[in-house]
Amino acid sequence: MISIVLPAFNEEENIAPATQALREVLTACGEEFELLFISDGSTDATYERILEQHRADKRVRGAEFSRNFGKEAAIFAGLENAAGDAVIVMDCDLQHPPAAIPEMIKKWKAGAEVVEGFKTSRGKESFFHRISAGLFYRVMSRLIHMDMNASSDFKLLDRKVVNALLELPERNTFFRALSFWVGFRTEKVYYEVQERRLGSSKWSTAKLMKYAVRNATSFSTLPLQAVTVMGWIFLAFSLVLGIQTLVNFLRGHSATGFTTVILLILIVGGFLMLSLGVIGHYVARIYEEVKGRPRFIIRDTTESENT
Ligand code: UDP
Ligand code: MG
Repeated sequence: MISIVLPAFNEEENIAPATQALREVLTACGEEFELLFISDGSTDATYERILEQHRADKRVRGAEFSRNFGKEAAIFAGLENAAGDAVIVMDCDLQHPPAAIPEMIKKWKAGAEVVEGFKTSRGKESFFHRISAGLFYRVMSRLIHMDMNASSDFKLLDRKVVNALLELPERNTFFRALSFWVGFRTEKVYYEVQERRLGSSKWSTAKLMKYAVRNATSFSTLPLQAVTVMGWIFLAFSLVLGIQTLVNFLRGHSATGFTTVILLILIVGGFLMLSLGVIGHYVARIYEEVKGRPRFIIRDTTESENT
């Protein structure tokens, strides 16, 4: 059986079309399947729509979070509850084309354990979004030594891979990169990002920025090493300036150089604050992980309908 995990945040218009489209594609493949919608604390009728679909077809299941925990949490909730031998994660706004699923299943049956969906084009995005996403992926690819640029959350994972991902104890997950990190035999499927037909994007620029910083700091300690490098540069610089100051003092004209003092205080102060900020991010990550709170809280599942 194949499980399809679909995170949904305020997607009431998309539940029925997504169910319909996926049912058609999977039936045509001749696969047994289940659809798992995870409503990420939606404030509209998303969960009611999921319940309607569940009543009509028991292969559609779903759960609702007690509040908005984010897409990552929704994906992991889906993985935890999926029963299939393979799990496909995709957006429920149909931007990830269901038409790519048969090829994914074919590659899986041919022995691939992870089938990554790669974007051939990035779809319609604002100029700013394109630039910042480009920068983010370039940095992330460096940090984790894997090419992330065209990757997305559209993937097929074998049961083995799902179990490996569920074993990971961390709370701050970055699904897109973790599926690279766990390894396994990986194949690619290329797809074209569709335009969102119903509803609007759920990501604001501020939300994306936060997501980027969080993922960079939870995946790499490179920013911390950058602080050490800055320290070495300043040390070298201070040696030169120290000698110059001493020479000036011994020559007896040490009163000048006030500008240098002010500049040094400003520059060093600025870098110190920045470094503290970088370290602060890591302390915050450690703090969050140490608390060990659950990734999400489920308020209701479609299973409660049947009892
Ligand atoms: N999503 C979610 N929780 C959130 C934000 C988004 O579960 O807090 C889901 C959303 O319902 C959709 C997917 O994540 O299925 C992708 O979101 P969206 O289409 O808004 O992002 P975009 O395609 O614009 O990057
Ligand atoms: Mg979308």
